[in-house]
Amino acid sequence: MRIILIGPPASGKGTQAKVLCDRFAVPQVSTGDMLRAAKAAGTALGLKAAAFMQAGQLVPDEVVIGLIDERLGQGDASKGFVLDGFPRTVPQAEALGRLLDGRGLKLDHVIQIDVPRALLVERAVLRRTDKRTGQIYHLKYNPPPPEADLEHRADDREETVLARLDTYENMTAALLPHYEALGLLRKVDGVGKPSEITDRLLAVLGNIG
Ligand code: AMP
Repeated sequence: MRIILIGPPASGKGTQAKVLCDRFAVPQVSTGDMLRAAKAAGTALGLKAAAFMQAGQLVPDEVVIGLIDERLGQGDASKGFVLDGFPRTVPQAEALGRLLDGRGLKLDHVIQIDVPRALLVERAVLRRTDKRTGQIYHLKYNPPPPEADLEHRADDREETVLARLDTYENMTAALLPHYEALGLLRKVDGVGKPSEITDRLLAVLGNIG
């Protein structure tokens, strides 16, 4: 099962990627999580990436392509993966195609999670992550349990979210025709409860597993 989830910031990609990974027993490969981990570890790559992330801009293609190349080479990714937040540009998608070809692998599905822009800002601003489990909550719609150790992503402030939405519309939306031309693109309505979106995704994936 090799899947790409495409969607704007706070569309629920990360939440749904975790559910699908549990269900299909494949790793979640999130360039955003990898970059945040590199930043937290204080590596040169992490510090370089942090400036772009803070501004709501994309980290240069060669940086994220290098991360993905290394990650897909790890043993657990041979069973499949859910890519969350990668690719985000057409050059990244082309590089991914070459990386997979080189390993004799093919993508199964590319799913676009569609959420109106007006909903996304509120979702991001009220989004919190449990530092210990990585679980994502929303203070209003999916409140965390009292024991959660919450953090608010540095790039989930309103002005950064707006910049990230612009970046998505200007750069990432170009991926949709790319995957449509390859016959891989499916669209899922991302408005509703997380469990409802999961049901829609599973319906698109043919409910296997
Ligand atoms: P995310 O957690 O997917 O929302 O990503 C957070 C931030 O990390 C983005 O706003 C970008 O600055 C950076 N980032 C994550 N994935 C990519 C990617 N594939 N290409 C470029 N930048 C990325």
